[in-house]
Amino acid sequence: MTDQGGGGPGGPGGPPNPADECNIKVVCRVRPLNAAEEKAGSKFVLKFPTDDSISIGGKVYVYDRVLKPNVTQEAVYETAAKPIVKDVLSGYNGTIFAYGQTSSGKTHTMEGVLGDEKVMGIIPRIVGDIFSYIYNMDENLEFHIKVSYFEIYLDKIRDLLDVTKTNLSVHEDKNRVPYVKGATERFVSSPEEVLEVIDEGKANRHVAVTNMNEHSSRSHSVFLINVKQENVETQKKLSGKLYLVDLAGSEKVSKTGAEGSVLDEAKNINKSLSALGNVIAALADGNIHVPYRDSKLTRMLQESLGGNARTTMVICCSPASYNEAETKTTLFFGQR
Ligand code: ADP
Ligand code: MG
Repeated sequence: MTDQGGGGPGGPGGPPNPADECNIKVVCRVRPLNAAEEKAGSKFVLKFPTDDSISIGGKVYVYDRVLKPNVTQEAVYETAAKPIVKDVLSGYNGTIFAYGQTSSGKTHTMEGVLGDEKVMGIIPRIVGDIFSYIYNMDENLEFHIKVSYFEIYLDKIRDLLDVTKTNLSVHEDKNRVPYVKGATERFVSSPEEVLEVIDEGKANRHVAVTNMNEHSSRSHSVFLINVKQENVETQKKLSGKLYLVDLAGSEKVSKTGAEGSVLDEAKNINKSLSALGNVIAALADGNIHVPYRDSKLTRMLQESLGGNARTTMVICCSPASYNEAETKTTLFFGQR
């Protein structure tokens, strides 16, 4: 019996299940205008014709769901994450992404204010839900939960739980499942422990970085929760991996007026985001060839994208007229 994650109970080689064909969900979230934008007289340029559509400059985009600025963090969790958490606890793999330009609300969506019941984001809510599920479970089930935390910058994977590991590589195990070789894995047994690991990773992220805001807008952050369970009576095993990805800012290079190394960074981000877009578009179209190998990020996530895995992309948008061009690009990306 393999316990290396299996793409769900059917296993990666299992028969295709027609009901599983489209496991990719796109949710669009719009943040409110912020104080600076209001002060600068920026207009709110988005309209919400229905629950699943949004329009800008007369063009309408349709997603699985559109979340307006007044939607609570809890409601965002219910829509974008809760169903995936249930599946991960049933042995499926999953990935939740936040995509959008810098300051569109990606980190607010994924993390929010950790430890604040009301404003906390998707990650702490997932962690809370996983543990409350476990505490209420059958005594015959034994759970092992471990987490890893990475940052991908210029296509290099850095281990946020061990600063000495600055360029981890993606290998394949004997079942040809890709994994990050040598990554730190922490066993955790309570929500508090997970939050401590997140704090530790964030502190490490700040090391050797002069401007954290700039840095975080140029790197992807990836938090992995791995849930293994075994029924001690029947020996039945289930394993589910959930990747939570706060992507690098999707803004175009020109807006930042970049040169030299900054330009390289920006090009690299655009490349890795378009590699991700290509993979997701290929999966959504049911293509046989999915270009996972085009970036470290897609390679790392391979087992948790497509097949039986559950994927949700939250595309985050600014409503401000100043950001109109980027918002259009973001909405277009989500549409693919
Ligand atoms: P990003 O991670 O995309 O760069 P942030 O999540 O850091 O953007 O958001 C930028 C700012 O806007 C933060 O101060 C954040 O608290 C605020 N913000 C983002 N989304 C919302 C929202 N839906 N409601 C209220 N404030 C928000
Ligand atoms: Mg951010």
